[in-house]
Amino acid sequence: MAVKKQAAPKKAVSAKKPALTKKAKFDAHAQTTEVARRLAIGYPEVICELDHKNAYELLSATILSAQCTDVRVNMVTPALFVRYPDPWSLAAADPAELETIIRSTGFYQSKARNLMGMAQNLVERFGGEVPSELSDLVTLPGVGRKTGNVVRSVIFDLPGLPVDTHVGRLSRRLGLTKLEDPVKVELELNNYLPGSEWGSFSLRLILHGRRVCDARKPQCTICELADICPSAGLPVIGPTTKRPAKEK
Ligand code: SF4
Repeated sequence: MAVKKQAAPKKAVSAKKPALTKKAKFDAHAQTTEVARRLAIGYPEVICELDHKNAYELLSATILSAQCTDVRVNMVTPALFVRYPDPWSLAAADPAELETIIRSTGFYQSKARNLMGMAQNLVERFGGEVPSELSDLVTLPGVGRKTGNVVRSVIFDLPGLPVDTHVGRLSRRLGLTKLEDPVKVELELNNYLPGSEWGSFSLRLILHGRRVCDARKPQCTICELADICPSAGLPVIGPTTKRPAKEK
């Protein structure tokens, strides 16, 4: 009889636990792993949507993609690479002519300066080759961690997790991070996946952000991540964020 009396309270306590346990068990590491697994099924072919034939072209195209769509960049780069097929020709470009070619990508004067500076550095410091180390890449004009990681992961198949607007937005909506700073987001996500998956994970988040999880109109009803996404079905507050569940 004594045993039966002790057993009842244990059942009562455990019956009240599930809601609290679910919240306490949210694990960004496990969530990232599951998101990566599902995205790999949804987007089996990992593609960089900036047209390029080599490291020099991808580096140039990525510099041009700042504040510009990949579609627009892809309309500009064919003429750019015919006129300047390598770092040596770009380093010696006439700035006015270069600006005319890239004008439609926006911020064309600073982009022209960065492109020429990047090319001059490649010629003078790296023998005309694009370096693979992030510490070298970020010393080039117009190249930050995002651009450097694009080149590392896409061209050299080295660990690199570019965090652009899509990667940042989806990571926050999916609960992978609460951080806003792209570099901090990158370093946090790096903890959750093996280096060999960083680049493909970033590219798949970008594809999902473009096709399903739009900044203003996320299509949660057709999203394969909806059942594990803390933002599913919630209203969009601003252009890139959604109301956190706890504020509802
Ligand atoms: S469920 Fe909605 S908010 Fe979450 S990832 Fe999918 S589209 Fe984005």
